[in-house]
Amino acid sequence: MFDKILIANRGEIALRILRAAKELGIATVAVHSTADADAMHVRLADESVCIGPPAARESYLNIPSIIAACEITGADAVHPGYGFLSENARFAEVLAHHNIGFIGPKAEHIRTMGDKIEAKRTALALGIPCVPGSEGGVEDIDEAKRVAAGIGYPVLVKAAAGGGGRGMKVARTEADLEQAIGLARTEAKAAFGDDAVYLEKYLEKPRHIEVQVLGDGRGGAVHLAERDCSLQRRHQKVWEEGGSPALNDAMRAEIGGICAGAMQKLGYLGAGTIEFLYEDGRFYFIEMNTRIQVEHPVTEMITGIDLVNEQIRVAAGGDLSVSQNEIRVEGHAIECRINAEHPATFRPSPGQITYYHPPGGLGVRVDSAAFQGYRIPPNYDSLIGKLIVHGRTRNECLMRLRRALDEFVIDGVDTTLPLFRTLVRNADVQNGLYDIHWLEHFLEKEGLPA
Ligand code: ADP
Repeated sequence: MFDKILIANRGEIALRILRAAKELGIATVAVHSTADADAMHVRLADESVCIGPPAARESYLNIPSIIAACEITGADAVHPGYGFLSENARFAEVLAHHNIGFIGPKAEHIRTMGDKIEAKRTALALGIPCVPGSEGGVEDIDEAKRVAAGIGYPVLVKAAAGGGGRGMKVARTEADLEQAIGLARTEAKAAFGDDAVYLEKYLEKPRHIEVQVLGDGRGGAVHLAERDCSLQRRHQKVWEEGGSPALNDAMRAEIGGICAGAMQKLGYLGAGTIEFLYEDGRFYFIEMNTRIQVEHPVTEMITGIDLVNEQIRVAAGGDLSVSQNEIRVEGHAIECRINAEHPATFRPSPGQITYYHPPGGLGVRVDSAAFQGYRIPPNYDSLIGKLIVHGRTRNECLMRLRRALDEFVIDGVDTTLPLFRTLVRNADVQNGLYDIHWLEHFLEKEGLPA
């Protein structure tokens, strides 16, 4: 087992990793930018190292600084969290070169899944159902037209290097295709420095359903059921729940089994998420995330399994603590991403939290690095915490979520709490009747009180 883990991240996920490390009796090192000198992850870690100025490029993304911090503190492994360097295969390789463990998958699997065209090819070869689309990238407009005619309109142009919903454009007819490709290429080039694009059938009313997997890197792999993340704004998840209101136990076991089987064949190491769109009873692979995800607590609440603990165990060469037949889904869980943003305009609202009171009680979990007096810096994403609620049934979970949201007090900055208080009282949400477009349509129609 590792003796000392350096956490190459910040905010709530840095605390989440600290907790798992402490429970395993492993010492912790926090790294931080100058903007985060007073952050909670710095206070709670055994040691901390300042790795640069506020800009992430010069701190949390600065590989030489992070390696130096490992060497200064004698950390023997790095947990990258999500975002930042978590899906950077080169980072995993540099760590290996310095004999420092990477708490994440093998570099080759990060690389394969980081290129969406390669990822789809791999998924198909592993028997995972995919969205119909171009076999690889599309080079020119004539090829694109041929492929699109084969798939049938509408089609979605997607960036091979995509992430965060960027570089995606819908073409409803052949007349739109050239412009959609041009826009997607420009956006992809600007965001990822790579303008390769491919085509997919555009699904009109799918749900986003993703399967959590864990692998030991030696052919042992399990699935931990699914999360439904269909409530999205600008392709960003807002509300996540598990199990999906659209699946029953047999469907859950079937898609989970396909994913676990694929990971066994791949020899996958660590935690991963296989993301699907789900429409008319069918699953279509869209991508795989080779890291711990923001919404992982949903799975922890329904299975009782600590996913970060499992990541650390297998990265150190150990076995998973559970086998498939020991994993059970109990009850229902919902996570709300609380952002420091205006609830109607979604404009970021950095600044000082003047009063903070998180909800508590049975089945309520708050993953957050916020506290009263904390000043949210303007330099990073606006997630300030996650409220995760568990109940024996979906209905109990919804009632508990409603009261937990009403208890949550965050003053001094705008937050998305009012959005969730509205959603939890909405009939479609209560009945689980939503697809990936539902939230945007709702926001257009209803707007929200300021
Ligand atoms: P990113 O890596 O940028 O997040 P994804 O491939 O995961 O991109 O897609 C993000 C979101 O975009 C999905 O959750 C879904 O809402 C939408 N999307 C992706 N592919 C399709 C498709 N073929 N049809 C309809 N919507 C899609």
